[in-house]
Amino acid sequence: MSIKLYEEKELYPDAETNAFCPAFICEWCGNPVTRPNALYFWYINKGRYIDRQIHVAHKGLCEKQLNNKIGNNDNMQMWDDITDLLIYLIVNTGILDDERYSESLFKKLHDYISNKNE
Ligand SMILES: [Zn+2]
Repeated sequence: MSIKLYEEKELYPDAETNAFCPAFICEWCGNPVTRPNALYFWYINKGRYIDRQIHVAHKGLCEKQLNNKIGNNDNMQMWDDITDLLIYLIVNTGILDDERYSESLFKKLHDYISNKNE
């Protein structure tokens, strides 16, 4: 799995800051995931091939090409929506177990959604 830093303006043309922001990179086409049109999987156990890396690809053509590249033509891997990966990461960092961090997370998400809808 790859995460790369972008200038906000590259991903959000209307952004007024020059801040850099991370984005997931599609393992097939190399473009950032900027819409929830991506999948990920974390585990393959097919014959002797065991891969514990997390793979990310856009749904559709990129997903199919990546499957071909890594020999998963029978779709035995466990693809899931990229949103599920984000939920796992939030839970596993313990953010939701600490009120200070969870309040901060929810406030930032609320502010982001409010600003986006203005
Ligand atoms: Zn792609």
